[in-house]
Amino acid sequence: MSRQFTECSCCGKAINYGNAYVTIVRNVEQADFDLTTNQEEITIIDSNEVITFCGSCGNSFDADTIANIVNAIPTGQNRITDN
Ligand SMILES: [Zn+2]
Repeated sequence: MSRQFTECSCCGKAINYGNAYVTIVRNVEQADFDLTTNQEEITIIDSNEVITFCGSCGNSFDADTIANIVNAIPTGQNRITDN
């Protein structure tokens, strides 16, 4: 019997160790370019897991849908567009 790691924020199903799952994470990142290696480097300054889904729930969202939802959240800095 597998031990539970966490549970799905959407359906409540147990997510056990060894199960694939989907997380939405808020990262504060800094991008730099290393001229000696000619590679970009991303430093994660802070990372917070926002929500965790089981594979079934998580795979019902695609990245474009999530980006549209996040862009619809009012922040005071959003560009207002009338359609
Ligand atoms: Zn789920």
